[in-house]
Amino acid sequence: MTNHYLSEAVERIQPSGIRKFFDLASSMDNIISLGVGEPDYATPWNIREASIASLERGMTSYTANAGILELREEISRYLNREFHTPYDPENEVIVTAGASEAIDLAMRSTVNPGDEVLVVEPSFVSYAPLVSLIGGVPVSVPTSIENGFKVTADQIAERVTDRTRGILLCFPNNPTGTVMTKEELEQVATVIEKHDLIVYSDEIYAEMTYDGRHVSVPALKGMRERTVLISGFSKAFAMTGWRLGYVCAPAPIAAGMLKIHQYAMMCASTMAQYGALEALRNGKDEMLEMVESYRQRRNFFVSSLKDIGLDCHTPGGAFYAFPSIKSTGLSSESFAEKLLFAERIAVVPGNVFGEGGEGHIRCSYATSLSQLEEAVDRIDSFLKEIK
Ligand code: PMP
Repeated sequence: MTNHYLSEAVERIQPSGIRKFFDLASSMDNIISLGVGEPDYATPWNIREASIASLERGMTSYTANAGILELREEISRYLNREFHTPYDPENEVIVTAGASEAIDLAMRSTVNPGDEVLVVEPSFVSYAPLVSLIGGVPVSVPTSIENGFKVTADQIAERVTDRTRGILLCFPNNPTGTVMTKEELEQVATVIEKHDLIVYSDEIYAEMTYDGRHVSVPALKGMRERTVLISGFSKAFAMTGWRLGYVCAPAPIAAGMLKIHQYAMMCASTMAQYGALEALRNGKDEMLEMVESYRQRRNFFVSSLKDIGLDCHTPGGAFYAFPSIKSTGLSSESFAEKLLFAERIAVVPGNVFGEGGEGHIRCSYATSLSQLEEAVDRIDSFLKEIK
């Protein structure tokens, strides 16, 4: 479908494969959805209440472009305390409309037309289109189940050219749930430093690690000065609809991002910023309870998928399982479509996440244990039907 009023850049990108699939699923009854990448909790009440209180006090104006200073200070303390990554709240932190805007700002402020940006895939669906939209060239660095979807220094080195500007990393990963250890990340950091690349590190799932604490990329030797750290409140604090995230980077890069943010967004939602302030000040206990519950669900769901014969690596974080469906001989799209019609289970076909995703499906286990049990039974029946 073309239209001569549209820009070439917009014509170049495709609508999200996830949405396309869910429009279909939402028109059907009795669906168990393992599709959407969001917590199954409502935002904790104290966070909602803080936002309501800000409205009651009439705090309804714009904030500073970079966000309320108090919130930036709280983000800075939080990152330093939890992940050993100090950022100056005045010059290095910008509050954004979700991590989504943070990714966009990072790309727009650092990538020139024709620059190549390495994207470790399978990956979150926004990365490659956001690179393309500004005339950059996304270059896939595919990972696979054989290596637990980890990326190695050699794989990166192989794809570096003299046009390579930076690399997008996301651990814990969407869609694979993969977590890299400190030693593994240090190896990757060496090659990044050698080629003087910018790192765009999407750490939105940092709080959701189940076998040890998250290692933040800017905390690694030589990385802080070249890293744009992307994160937000959607996942850890169950705040997807609030549209609140943040981006941290060395002052000159942050200043570049702020120029775009002030023109495109002015500032993030004021009432959401007051909620986020409460999340960082008093949200830890409830957040840890939610994370513990995801851990239990991961343990149940991943071992159950293995029991019914699907090859699935154990995800160390986020809330996704990414089993292989290669043994069925079906493409991921055909598997997902048939599973939806035959058993009313919605999953996301792995091919939408780029190279390395074909032959897999993404299942979000952020749904109740009883639904997960039912989902496993139905997937089991489906596997038997198509044998
Ligand atoms: N990055 C990753 C890896 C994600 O999975 C998501 C949400 N699915 C986002 C960014 C966007 O998050 P936000 O709601 O903060 O825009």
